[in-house]
Amino acid sequence: MLWLAFGPFHAMENQMLVIRIKIPNSGAVDWTVHSGPQLLFRDVLDVIGQVLPEATTTAFEYEDEDGDRITVRSDEEMKAMLSYYYSTVMEQQVNGQLIEPLQIFPRACKPPGERNIHGLKVNTRAGPSQHGSPAVSDSLPSTSLKKSSAELKKILANGQMNEQDIRYRDTLGHGNGGTVYKAYHVPSGKILAVKVILLDITLELQKQIMSELEILYKCDSSYIIGFYGAFFVENRISICTEFMDGGSLDVYRKIPENVLGRIAVAVVKGLTYLWSLKILHRDLIEMIYVKVLHKLSNANNADVKPSNMLVNTRGQVKLCDFGVSTQLVNSIAKTYVGTNAYMAPERISGEQYGIHSDVWSLGISFMELALGRFPYPQIQKNQGSLMPLQLLQCIVDEDSPVLPVGEFSEPFVHFITQCMRKQPKERPAPEELMGHPFIVQFNDGNATVLSMWVCRALEERRSQQGPP
Ligand code: ATP
Ligand code: MG
Repeated sequence: MLWLAFGPFHAMENQMLVIRIKIPNSGAVDWTVHSGPQLLFRDVLDVIGQVLPEATTTAFEYEDEDGDRITVRSDEEMKAMLSYYYSTVMEQQVNGQLIEPLQIFPRACKPPGERNIHGLKVNTRAGPSQHGSPAVSDSLPSTSLKKSSAELKKILANGQMNEQDIRYRDTLGHGNGGTVYKAYHVPSGKILAVKVILLDITLELQKQIMSELEILYKCDSSYIIGFYGAFFVENRISICTEFMDGGSLDVYRKIPENVLGRIAVAVVKGLTYLWSLKILHRDLIEMIYVKVLHKLSNANNADVKPSNMLVNTRGQVKLCDFGVSTQLVNSIAKTYVGTNAYMAPERISGEQYGIHSDVWSLGISFMELALGRFPYPQIQKNQGSLMPLQLLQCIVDEDSPVLPVGEFSEPFVHFITQCMRKQPKERPAPEELMGHPFIVQFNDGNATVLSMWVCRALEERRSQQGPP
């Protein structure tokens, strides 16, 4: 009976497929796909993401003929589900029955709360991966689904970002300077990450920070977190950025080398972009933007550390919290004392620093992510990355740690060793980083490896935490 599994699959190739996305406790959404068999797992997650924008869905389930739930987490499992579904459709056709939509159950979704989207219809002409993002039927209320990033940027660039339009949800984490919240932006229907920092500073300094942050609108790289706007309310600044559903890398345990390699490619590209901005700006220093650009070239280095490297279930990696505003960095530094454990030896000892120092931070961060612990055993990082200066003296005094050969590939060990050379000038320059065999090897544009790894890690975390 093998033909039953494959025969109808081909015969149905051009037929419409209706996927019914079941929403916990509040009905379902029907999604019409015009080329079902070409549909990828990622496409389905994308559409579920639009239907349930507040939840992070990493997998979904369908029911077999006995009502048992089967999990789908990959393209292979998608194929098996579609194959099973088409065989049931064949049977329904043969028996003259009504054809049932394919029912799927998003996994680990939080209930959508007040956003009851029962009966909502999402219509796509074809699988979104081949034809861009899924088309949404015109009859939908504008806030029902996520708007495109470009549209959101337009709304926000017009200065419409304000406290009234934001509904704060979960706390994503606390840093040295503030707290990051997951928040819902009502006019755009978009989920944001909002970093709120308490700053007791003058109005003059507030204005200066706002003007320095303007430069973030100009940052345009898929390896840098999207910036939507910032505003002050009393003595708090709120900085609104793109939400990354996988969070930061510091909370993941030991990351396997094939995943870490793909992350390293993105981080090196993001850093190269930031560095190029600074260099470019130095070259253009005489030009009209002289004031802002001068400030940018004086700004702190990129704050390279695992908690500022964010991932999402699409398999993207983005950098955040690079010191773009000198004033903001200074104001935070006045409130919080301590030295960042990822800083290069020359920064710890108060010498001049530059791009080479970021390369050290890149090296030590990736060494930590590979080992699953901070590379200097004598340094106990409990919470956060700020430490008393004396405790970091060993980074200045001792030889750099080396990744154990045998446990990691030769190019990876070499990459880390080069980045963590004690002499700043001996560390690789940006173009050498991009051409390093470890980076070249994983610069293959494969986002699936990372996407699958993030999805699995999030699922594991949830199953350990129990039901929401
Ligand atoms: P520091 O204050 O030195 O930057 P930190 O990076 O640990 O330290 P925050 O920047 O305040 O602290 O971030 C706190 C946590 O919030 C991060 O560790 C990360 O898990 C989460 N986070 C930050 N930005 C985002 C985002 N855009 N999307 C999702 N999670 C985020
Ligand atoms: Mg941070």
